[in-house]
Amino acid sequence: MKEFWSARIRDAVPYVPGEQPQQGKWIKLNTNENPYPPSPRALEALVRAANEDLRLYPAPECTDLCAAAAQCWGVEPEQVFCGNGSDEILAFCFQAFFDPERPVAFPAVSYSFYPVYAEYFGLTCRQVPMNRDFSVPLEKLWGDNGGVVLPNPNAPTGLAVGLEEIETLLERNPQAVVIIDEAYVDFGASSAVPLISRYPNLLVVQTLSKSRSLAGLRVGFALGQENLIAALRCVRDSINSYTVDRAAQAVAAAALLDRDYFEQTRQKIMETRAWTAGELERLGFSLCPSRSNFLFIRHPRREGKALFDALRQRGILVRRWDREEIRDWLRVTIGTQKQMQALLGALKEILS
Ligand SMILES: *Cc1c(COP(=O)(O)O)cnc(C)c1O
Repeated sequence: MKEFWSARIRDAVPYVPGEQPQQGKWIKLNTNENPYPPSPRALEALVRAANEDLRLYPAPECTDLCAAAAQCWGVEPEQVFCGNGSDEILAFCFQAFFDPERPVAFPAVSYSFYPVYAEYFGLTCRQVPMNRDFSVPLEKLWGDNGGVVLPNPNAPTGLAVGLEEIETLLERNPQAVVIIDEAYVDFGASSAVPLISRYPNLLVVQTLSKSRSLAGLRVGFALGQENLIAALRCVRDSINSYTVDRAAQAVAAAALLDRDYFEQTRQKIMETRAWTAGELERLGFSLCPSRSNFLFIRHPRREGKALFDALRQRGILVRRWDREEIRDWLRVTIGTQKQMQALLGALKEILS
């Protein structure tokens, strides 16, 4: 095995995504997908995009999509970069902004793709240990970093920090790019996008995968001052000029412009989250106060692995990790009210 592999690939330890079963009837609460369908306008745009123009390459700068994103977030189109999912954009960021000599700092319990990128691109990282309640000791992200990555809300904890704390982080890292990964921001946290005009070192990363129900489309954004956007273009055009296909550009723009649908679905998820959190507490679970579309939960009398397996046996998929500090915790995506009732029914049975 691994004959003919490059040295880089031979040593790589890739990210392991959550299970994506292609068959069978699962209640899928393991990868933070949205339980509601995409905006009907997005689906109409997809039908319209299925035409002979597909023989042509897409707009390399995603012009119309950047305009829609700029309108949606109240920035200039030149301050937007579009990519094939925010994972791709994050990978570009690690190449665009960080150097091996200076470590990239991020919370130790965080999105597990960050250390994979750092390793793959030959960077060093500084993983900051969490407080006991899983909050991030932000002051440990101040100082002489080669870069900072902070998901807000954090994954898999769901905890969010406020904009004042983000401003302090930006001020305390004037020599480094600070990436705020806002994959879950629409479920109750504050976006740092309004700070972009004042902080040349701020890059906000957003995705349509969670709050816009479009994980299958693969579209993400980076928002920041033109200088940072130009660096991302430079990485992209050194690899693949057309990362966002024609249909995806059209569908993504339509989804961003359908504000009403977005508001309705994210409200429903936040309501279901509040209800589910209350019910889980009644069953004796500890949970982090979540501002995302998932709950991070632990039962004081059950091991995480045992709960995970028992749920799986009952057709319910959740996510867990073997790392020491979170081994007994489960991350549970907020689904429909009906799916959450099924989850609670299963948990009651398992705990009795
Ligand atoms: C889901 C997620 C992403 C990736 O989103 P895609 O746009 O689907 O690639 C990025 N960051 C965090 C923290 C996420 O949870």
